[in-house]
Amino acid sequence: MQYVSTRGFADLGTFTDVLLSGLAPDGGLAMPLRIPTFNQPELERLRLLSYPELAYEVMRPFICDIPEADLRRLLEDTYRPEVFGSADITPLTPLGQSGLSLLELSNGPSLAFKDMAMQFLGHAFEYVLEKRDQRVNILGATSGDTGSAAEYAMRGKQRVNVFMLSPRGRMSRFQQAQMYSLDEPNIFNIAVEGVFDDCQDLVKGVNADAEFKARYDIGAVNSINWGRVLAQAVYYFKGYFALGLPQGAEADFCVPSGNFGNVFAGYLAKMMGLPIGQLIVASNENSVLHEFFGSGIYHVWPADRVAVTSSPSMDIGKASNFERFLYLMAGSDPAQTAEWWAEVAAGRPVDLRGTAHWDAVGTSGFRAGRSTHADRLATIRRVDAEFGRLIDPHTADGVLVGARFRREGVPMVCLETALPAKFGETVQEAVGRMPQRPAQFEGIEDLPRHCEVLPNDAEALKHFIAEKLDRQD
Ligand SMILES: *Cc1c(COP(=O)(O)O)cnc(C)c1O
Repeated sequence: MQYVSTRGFADLGTFTDVLLSGLAPDGGLAMPLRIPTFNQPELERLRLLSYPELAYEVMRPFICDIPEADLRRLLEDTYRPEVFGSADITPLTPLGQSGLSLLELSNGPSLAFKDMAMQFLGHAFEYVLEKRDQRVNILGATSGDTGSAAEYAMRGKQRVNVFMLSPRGRMSRFQQAQMYSLDEPNIFNIAVEGVFDDCQDLVKGVNADAEFKARYDIGAVNSINWGRVLAQAVYYFKGYFALGLPQGAEADFCVPSGNFGNVFAGYLAKMMGLPIGQLIVASNENSVLHEFFGSGIYHVWPADRVAVTSSPSMDIGKASNFERFLYLMAGSDPAQTAEWWAEVAAGRPVDLRGTAHWDAVGTSGFRAGRSTHADRLATIRRVDAEFGRLIDPHTADGVLVGARFRREGVPMVCLETALPAKFGETVQEAVGRMPQRPAQFEGIEDLPRHCEVLPNDAEALKHFIAEKLDRQD
């Protein structure tokens, strides 16, 4: 399978090439040349497979440059019960007789769904770098979940270092402890004197220095990484099969969304032939996607319009994977996509009203809804009272919006994107008690912290990275 850019650059190579590279040279995102599909008998065959076997079947058509036995082993090493808490890896739990169920994606090492893809990236990076005799130094910025998922995936990996920037003192105490308690020679936590946007600008600043970037093998594992999107498509299949529906029957999925990576993976599964009916994008107060699906106009929100909410991993005004979706709505036309993204870059709206592209959106199965802080508290409280189940505020966004779109006789699968322990303060506000935490996280706030404080200054950051790496050589 060859990969192309959403904006026209025709040859991005094969899977392992796009796995390690970020944006395409023209600024676009990697997409496979075509999307392979399963027919009904093939789907039936997938129904009974274990998680790693299923992952192999779903991902294989997109990966032609890792030998079969190696890819199978990579996936078996990744999706282990010891890492994800059960042999199912992503168990499906019905919420009573409501027709709603939770697809549990957050039982991995960092307690959020990002582990599902990031753990695969950890193993895949190690494998590919070894083959190519290369190294990579991952530079990223996090406001919470991405950083811990990346660090838990890359800890102890050969040929990989992680430099993770976070805004000093601005993550939850639990999130800080999750990252800063890691004591690994290849993980570097950097607390920046600034806010999350400053951290992101610093990453951009370092990447803009092409010479430094090349000299120190600077790379990324952000949400536009195709390997992450592809690995996420697998659990839609797993969740669908767990419903035990008759052949061909539809299920709906509701997905708490920010950068549109998770829900886009659902669309990929649908394109591959999985009988998904509605694919519902749940937003919080930062509802730029809800705006688009309601109006046909995509107009990104400037940073100062994005509110800080109680589902912080969805506080995003510019959904980076959305370009992949509009590319498909344009019939995979890179010239059209490039034209739209020139408007986006200029801060202007993209207006699809009255076009064939908007008709395509209409038949895509996408729906959208949003919630407020009060909605989330009420949903956490209701799900706890009715079903005896504590959920986190992001999952609450999804359960609330999913219930709104529920169709009689069609199951609604809500994706659980984090465990409540990760957002204990909001859960306590809702139900008056702190959620339980998995045993390995008891008392982590009291462990020694491994974190360096740096000023908001790209030169200081480059100096820090260079010093650490020069010492490793
Ligand atoms: C990252 C994240 C999201 C948003 O996922 P996207 O793929 O960016 O849409 C939702 N919930 C939680 C808990 C997250 O960590």
